[in-house]
Amino acid sequence: MDRAGAAALDETDPLAGLRDRFELPDGLIYLDGNSLGPLPRSVAARLRRVIDEEWGEGLIGSWNEAGWIDLTDRVAERLARLLGGDPGEVKVGDSTTVNLSISLDAVLPHVAGGVVLTEAGNFPTDLYVAEAAAARHGKQLVRVPKGEVLSRLGPDVGLLLLTHVDYRTAERWDAPAVTTAAHAAGALVCWDLAHSAGAVEVDLHAWGADLAIGCTYKYLNGGPGAPAYLYMRADLADDVAPPIPGWWGHADPFGFSPSYRPAPGADRFMIGTPPILALAAVDEALAVFDDVDVAHVEAKARALTDLFVELVDIHAAEAVVLSPRAAGLRGAHVLLGHPDAYSVVQALIDRGVVGDFRPPDGMRFGLAPLTTRFVDVWDAVQALSDVLLTGAFDEPAYRRRKPVV
Ligand SMILES: *Cc1c(COP(=O)(O)O)cnc(C)c1O
Repeated sequence: MDRAGAAALDETDPLAGLRDRFELPDGLIYLDGNSLGPLPRSVAARLRRVIDEEWGEGLIGSWNEAGWIDLTDRVAERLARLLGGDPGEVKVGDSTTVNLSISLDAVLPHVAGGVVLTEAGNFPTDLYVAEAAAARHGKQLVRVPKGEVLSRLGPDVGLLLLTHVDYRTAERWDAPAVTTAAHAAGALVCWDLAHSAGAVEVDLHAWGADLAIGCTYKYLNGGPGAPAYLYMRADLADDVAPPIPGWWGHADPFGFSPSYRPAPGADRFMIGTPPILALAAVDEALAVFDDVDVAHVEAKARALTDLFVELVDIHAAEAVVLSPRAAGLRGAHVLLGHPDAYSVVQALIDRGVVGDFRPPDGMRFGLAPLTTRFVDVWDAVQALSDVLLTGAFDEPAYRRRKPVV
C-alpha cells in the first residue's frame, strides 16, 4: 500500500472525526496512547469549571449541588458500557495495583485451590501483588510460560490471573475460551484490561469473567495517574468482604454508623473520599466514547496494526515484528525488536514519532483507534525506515537512558 492508499482508509474510517476531540500537537505522530492517552479537548474547560465554580464558589455544597457525590457512579456507568458489565459491578478509584490487591484479598479466602496461577511474563505489578496476596492467604503464586497456562489448570488452581493484551508483545488471549476452561477446572479468573478497554472489544459478561482491573490513563485518556477501575461480577461481590472496609464503601456513609455494613456490589471496594478533580477528567474523557461503537474500535485496531506490520515488513525489515501476525491474536499496539531499540526510539522521538522502549530490545507503538490515522502509520514507518537505513540512531545522545522509558 502507498500513502494514498492509507489516506483512502482514513476517508472511510467511521472513527475519523474523533481525533478532533483531542489536543494533539501539530506534526507530532503520537503512538504512545497505550502509556498515556492524549488530552481530550473538553477536559480543560471541565476542570476549570470544577475548580472555579464547584470548588471555588460552591465549596462543600458541591457534593450535593454539583453532584460530586454521584460522580463515581456516573463514571462507572460509562466504564461499564466499555467493559460489558453492569455499573453496579464496577468500582472507580485508586490505582490498578491497589484494585488488584484488594480484589485478590477479597476473593482468595473463598477459593478452594491453593494455587494462584499466572503467566511468567505478566506485568510486574501483577506478579508482585499476586505473590504477596497469595502468601497472605496461605496460597502460592505459580508462574508458567504463556503456552503452559491452560495445561497447568487443575483442581489445585483457585484463581487464574492474566493480562488480556500483553503489555509488551500485544498478544491477546482468547478470553471467553480461557475463562470457560478455567471455570471448568474450578478456578476464578481475573483479567487485567490495562491494554484492552478502549482499544479492543471487551465483554466481561459474555466472557463470563469473575474479576477484572484496569487503568483509565492509557487508551481511556483519563490523564496521568487517573483513577483506575475494578470489576467484580455481582453475585461474587455481594458474597465477599472488602479487605479495606472504608467509610466510602459503607452502605450508608453519611449515616455515620459505628459499625461497618458493606454497600451492595462493587461499591463496597470504595475506600476513602474519591478524588473529584481527577474523576471529573476521567468522566469527560470517557464521554468521548459515548457515541462510539466498540465494534468500530476493534475493527480499526486490527486494520491499523495490520497496516503497520505490512509496512514494517516492506520498508523497515531490520526490525523484527514480535507481535502476533494475526490481528485477532493481537491488541492495538505492535512490538518490534531491534538490538538498538532504545536508541532507535529516541531518534524517532526526535523526528516527531513517539513510541516507547520496553526491555530488553523492544520498540512499542500504540495505535490508539480513536486518535491514530492510517497516514500516521504510513509516515511513522517511513521515519523508522529512514532512521534504520541511515543509522541515524547511532548517536551517544540517543543511548542516554532517561528515568521514564
Ligand atoms: C499500566 C499497567 C498497569 C498499571 O498499574 P498502575 O497501578 O496504574 O500503575 C497494570 N497492569 C498492566 C498490564 C499495565 O500495563
